[in-house]
Amino acid sequence: MNMLLSTWSFSESILNTVATKLGNSAGALDLVETCARMAEADESIDSVGVGGYPDADGRCTFDAAVMLSPSQSGGVCAIERHQHPVSLARLVMEKTNHTLLAGPLADVFADEHGLESVDILTQSSKEKWLKWKEDHQPTETLAPYDTGTGKLFGNHDTIGTLAVDARGTMAGACSTSGMAWKVPGRVGDSPIIGHGLYVDPKRGAATATGHGELISGVCSSFLVVELMGRGASPIEAIQEMLERVEHSYDIESEHQVACIALTPDGQFAGGALRDGFTYVVCKNGPAEVKSPEFVLNP
Ligand code: ASP
Repeated sequence: MNMLLSTWSFSESILNTVATKLGNSAGALDLVETCARMAEADESIDSVGVGGYPDADGRCTFDAAVMLSPSQSGGVCAIERHQHPVSLARLVMEKTNHTLLAGPLADVFADEHGLESVDILTQSSKEKWLKWKEDHQPTETLAPYDTGTGKLFGNHDTIGTLAVDARGTMAGACSTSGMAWKVPGRVGDSPIIGHGLYVDPKRGAATATGHGELISGVCSSFLVVELMGRGASPIEAIQEMLERVEHSYDIESEHQVACIALTPDGQFAGGALRDGFTYVVCKNGPAEVKSPEFVLNP
């Protein structure tokens, strides 16, 4: 089997390119890393990699994670000088005995491993921040809403990609520049194992996007994988996780939590707290944009 699943419709062209370029023989980890790298390099994607929204002080920071299994994961958060946090997360997994490196010292680790240091605050990011400052907009976030054209409204999102390769190996990766205008130093769910991403080859894989604080509060990705391991289908597991979110928080209009999940034998589903989420599946053919099978509050 060779299957790729990824958040948001902007993943459609990415999955098609990766499936064509890397083909059936590629390993799951290479597949998910390459997808995240493409999103990180695409300036038109507002909330992943270069072109992402800055924090309230006009500084861009990136977070990412990769995971193969409970004993093989890596993450980086709040990095400021390297374009591909997902590759740095993979280096953390492969070259250290740790799971998470943070901030300027994570950038130093990247330097030591030969990753090129760059200015990640692009002109477009700076202009968005200056406009936000001038307009004195409130700091609250807008829930991401997919227009279905590859473009999102809202001011945060994450590429989360899950794969099962032809050998049956599972992997996951996620990458984000976090929420627009966040309090400097804020880190969301994406780089934290079990929150924005979880992979257990015996049970399945899940990745989340949306309001990081809500996702973290119920350990969303771990919860979904754990429920699948106890017999739930992907959609049942996502539904239970979303109900847990709803029971744990006073849900506001700007809140969104969305998740995709995949079992080792290729069953998959997507679900969200509210309308506006899409995901993409690619299996032996062109990538297909899908609406979530379950929306808690349509
Ligand atoms: N979950 C990410 C964060 O909170 C953003 C998103 O996926 O929309 O940083």
